[in-house]
Amino acid sequence: MKNILSLSFLFIVALAFSQTKSKGFAVHSTDGKFQPYEFNRHAVGDNEIKIDILYAGICHSDVHHVRGDWGKEEYPMVPGHEIAGKVSAVGKNVTKFKVGDYAGVGCLVNSCGHCEYCKAGLEQYCKEAVLTYHDHDQFHNNETTQGGYSNNIVLTEKFAIKIPKNADLKKVAPLLCAGITTYSPIHYAGVKKGNKVGVAGFGGLGHMAVQYLVKLGAEVTVFDITEDKRADAKRFGAVKYVNVNNPEDLKDLDNKLSFVISTIPANYDPNLYLKMLNINGQMAIVGLPPFEKMPIIPIDKLIWQGNRKVFGSQIGGIPETQEMLDYSVANNIYPEVEIIPATANSIENAYQKVLDGKVKFRYVIDMQTMK
Ligand code: NDP
Ligand code: ZN
Repeated sequence: MKNILSLSFLFIVALAFSQTKSKGFAVHSTDGKFQPYEFNRHAVGDNEIKIDILYAGICHSDVHHVRGDWGKEEYPMVPGHEIAGKVSAVGKNVTKFKVGDYAGVGCLVNSCGHCEYCKAGLEQYCKEAVLTYHDHDQFHNNETTQGGYSNNIVLTEKFAIKIPKNADLKKVAPLLCAGITTYSPIHYAGVKKGNKVGVAGFGGLGHMAVQYLVKLGAEVTVFDITEDKRADAKRFGAVKYVNVNNPEDLKDLDNKLSFVISTIPANYDPNLYLKMLNINGQMAIVGLPPFEKMPIIPIDKLIWQGNRKVFGSQIGGIPETQEMLDYSVANNIYPEVEIIPATANSIENAYQKVLDGKVKFRYVIDMQTMK
């Protein structure tokens, strides 16, 4: 009995020593108050890498999670799924990275690897996919995953994205969510040069969508709820800006667009955009408002208004995320970012500005400034 007890003690001590010590900022309830937080991640496995996090983007999804917009959450929660950093350790089987390489992480850190989605490179839809935070990692004793507002992360090399050496690192992190979430449905819909298209919601995701669509040669109309972003839309190459609160702006838009992407994070009327679609037009929905304010798609309008298609889209799979990152860097397509220091106060201020519609266009936390 005594031997078993001392063996278990040794096992626990060994486990504690082999774990990865991490620190970051966590919320402990829906009150949105961030506090410094120290925690353990699992040790670097044979197929895994450790990334020292340099930059972490603040996505509106983080704000939804912290506020419990999508149902009950578990705390403490370290948000952050737009991560860029430097590889500081590699397991013995790792081939994709070496120490010193730059690597990114988005919303996923693992998946089963053998279901039809994983085989198709659509790991985000795998039933066993492990999210970067607010999830339990069944591949590591159900460890609670914690995100990128922290100094490091450990994950299987397959889910880490290679960041090209010439990338503008400060701006790379938001590509890992805002970039791929817009790049993927635009390509899935097959948008082509000369298409007339719309981007609804001109924030972190929306301004990435505009850049990808303009690069493809599409004629972009931007929709938002403020006058403050009219000049920005032009600057990013849009041909038209519509303030949906201004009835004059909404005239003569019906049946004009072949594709609309909605990134709107609040309640709205999807039919406003459905009726702008022309024959065979497509609407991609990526914005996910709080559950209690979920927009309703009127199926009667879908039937009567003829051959329009609506589809939802969640981030993108790992191969497409790598493709998006390489494409974005090669074409100099980056988010417009405001870098903020890694303090609880500055993160809370940034959240408030996202909620108040005052962010242009993405906050990125410089994790190197964490004390
Ligand atoms: P932002 O807050 O940066 O941008 C949202 C934009 O939508 C803001 O410009 C906002 O205006 C505008 N907006 C709000 N209400 C309306 C409306 N009724 N009509 C038109 N525009 C409106 O958020 P993000 O871009 O970071 O995220 C957008 C959404 O996408 C969130 O719900 C997020 O959770 C979701 N998301 C989904 C993913 C997926 O995989 N499907 C992945 C990542 C994010 P203002 O700023 O003035 O309020
Ligand atoms: Zn996101």
